[in-house]
Amino acid sequence: MKATEFDTSLSHSAQCMKQAIPLMVKYKMPVTPVNYAIWYCYVLGSNDKLNKELDDILAHYQTCPPAQAKQLFNAFLSDKDLALFHQMSDSFHNTIADVQTEIGKTLESSQDFSAILSQCHSGLYGLKKNSLDSFDDVLGYVDRLTEESVVMQQNAYQFQKKLENAYAEISDLKTALVNTQTAASQDPLTGLLNRGKFDEDIVLFCKAEHTGNHRALIFVDIDHFKQFNDDFGHQKGDDVLKVVSTKIMKHTEGIGKAYRYGGEEFCITAELDSLSEVVNFAESIRKDIAKLSVKGKKTGKAVRSITASFGIALHGEQCLVTQLIERADKALYLAKEHGRNRIEIAA
Ligand code: GH3
Ligand code: MG
Ligand code: MG
Repeated sequence: MKATEFDTSLSHSAQCMKQAIPLMVKYKMPVTPVNYAIWYCYVLGSNDKLNKELDDILAHYQTCPPAQAKQLFNAFLSDKDLALFHQMSDSFHNTIADVQTEIGKTLESSQDFSAILSQCHSGLYGLKKNSLDSFDDVLGYVDRLTEESVVMQQNAYQFQKKLENAYAEISDLKTALVNTQTAASQDPLTGLLNRGKFDEDIVLFCKAEHTGNHRALIFVDIDHFKQFNDDFGHQKGDDVLKVVSTKIMKHTEGIGKAYRYGGEEFCITAELDSLSEVVNFAESIRKDIAKLSVKGKKTGKAVRSITASFGIALHGEQCLVTQLIERADKALYLAKEHGRNRIEIAA
């Protein structure tokens, strides 16, 4: 059975979102449309079979791996549902933005309103002090107005408090969503983008229209890293991964995107004007990494240098994602074969 008529009202989708997102964080699942669709359906509780299967998967893996998520999606949901989720997510975000603007405006106007009321309030009491006895009726009316204005002031104050709370809640929700999305695409050790994000981005990178620029995929792999771990320990190895990542990140800023592909392998996507610019860019990172070394505690002299090898593949028209990755990987393999701490360009 395919799921499910979804209630797309703002309050209901907000409620489900509030439940679904913490669960995705708990089970370390990135907020992709497919995952979100599954969890949305899960918290909705509208399909027992889906819930049971997801529970079993979670019990087994402590997460829902991408292949299992895809299977669940294919079994219980449809592309139509996915389109609906995109639409719902867009409208949810638009509505949040609208509500925030409206609340912002209302906050200002209710503050103005309170100010006017308190001016009138003291003004009317001023009239009373002038003792206009002959205007008893008017004063009676004014008394009533004064009372009303006190009530209105209290209402306005309560309304303002409610708006402030709603504003804070929506802002928190928005921040939580942005943070989850960032966390879901980040490698925790190095702070670079992670493999999942690479798999998503590389498809778009290859699909984007050719602008005449040179679009490059660059693989970077630290040389003899296993030996480094064996000699200096895993902790020191982690430190190297962090320093190398910082260098890669710094060089890539404004030029492209940098990812931890896995283990001691990184990759960069970048768009530059010519092949020589791509090579210079990769060379500058290689040279900067090669400046790193482990120094002896007593002597202060370098006892181990740190280097990395690079494989570059340029994206040609009609080049498939898998082919681009394969070519960059092959070039990296050649760089290793030809002596390491060097760059090779794929044919
Ligand atoms: P090559 O020059 O051919 O690339 O040799 P290598 O030793 O770097 O390559 P190999 O694939 O044999 O070993 C990779 C090592 O990277 C093995 C593994 O212990 C280490 N490694 C992978 N991930 C991590 C990590 O998160 N932290 C640390 N410290 N080491 C890691
Ligand atoms: Mg290596
Ligand atoms: Mg490797």
